[in-house]
Amino acid sequence: MKVIDHLTNSKDTLFSFEILPPLKGKSIQSIFDGIDPLMEFNPKFINVTYHREEYIYIERENGLLEKIAIRKRPGTVGICAAIMNKYNVDAVPHLICGGFSKEETENALIDLQFLGIDNVLALRGDSIKTESTFRPHKDGHAYAVDLINQISEMNSGNYIVDDVQLEQTDFCIGTAGYPEKHFESMNMTTDLHYLKGKVDAGAEYIVTQMFFDNQKYFEFVKACREIGITVPIIPGIKPIKNLNHITFLPKFFKIDFPDDLSRALLKCKDNKAVEQVGIEWGIKQSQELKAAGVPCIHYYTMSNSTSVKSIANEVF
Ligand code: FAD
Repeated sequence: MKVIDHLTNSKDTLFSFEILPPLKGKSIQSIFDGIDPLMEFNPKFINVTYHREEYIYIERENGLLEKIAIRKRPGTVGICAAIMNKYNVDAVPHLICGGFSKEETENALIDLQFLGIDNVLALRGDSIKTESTFRPHKDGHAYAVDLINQISEMNSGNYIVDDVQLEQTDFCIGTAGYPEKHFESMNMTTDLHYLKGKVDAGAEYIVTQMFFDNQKYFEFVKACREIGITVPIIPGIKPIKNLNHITFLPKFFKIDFPDDLSRALLKCKDNKAVEQVGIEWGIKQSQELKAAGVPCIHYYTMSNSTSVKSIANEVF
């Protein structure tokens, strides 16, 4: 079933979450171990992230360094198929522009269709870790809107082969939104303009970047509605789990912690204390969002479900 149908068919706030493929060489059991404890909350869909290649350097016998591209977390599509097979829950693979030519994108979508996966979250993707800016594949897409256009074209039977009408695909497309603005955008107005472009191109719902201040989400939704974005906007919530997150999350995701939260975190002496603050904050945020009637709350588990389970116990 499509995400948009889950959202429109339900009067209550739905529960969903996102997982990461395991590091290469780890079994899929680690994924199931993260999903099992959350099944009691009846997730309607589970997202699986996509991780592009990274460059590593290997020292050869002659002392020279060889640059090698590897993908440390492959398996997005296989995990989606396994989730649908094992749990009978819809899986949403993330599909990115980075590293893909248009033809590779088309072929990836054909694989998804053959597997019965009819949902995708269409993203540009981040830059390669060792590069400061995003560089598209020479035959690929520079922005998520171009990827969404390609999927929408396939949904109309138009593949990249010129002038040939083929069987239509039937993908429900989601896209990303940023309550605190995407870090590359000049300002919120510009970012919202491009977000509207993604919805006009065929995105049927938006999932937000994580945020810790609900007010930012409410203002973002209001601003979206004011420029004519009418699709459901799903808030993304990340429980803070350890001392590293205090510096990593604001730096990597370009988001702010509200004063109350940062004051509580500053008092924490160890990871256990941070985790507890993260759970309490997550419960507070989720209860307020649910009371406001959001369509779904989407949790970033980073494949560790313990905090999300504690939050969901109080909210769903
Ligand atoms: P875009 O919508 O293309 O926007 C990128 C920037 O370009 C923005 O600043 C935007 O304002 C601007 N822009 C957009 N369109 C245009 C245009 N036509 N002309 C000029 N400027 C434009 N990354 C991964 O690698 N794998 C994942 O699985 C993944 N999952 C994610 C899930 C969610 C819910 C979110 C919020 C993010 C996720 N990301 C993931 C991160 C995401 O790929 C990055 O945030 C990336 O930098 C932007 O992706 P986007 O799809 O929002 O890009």
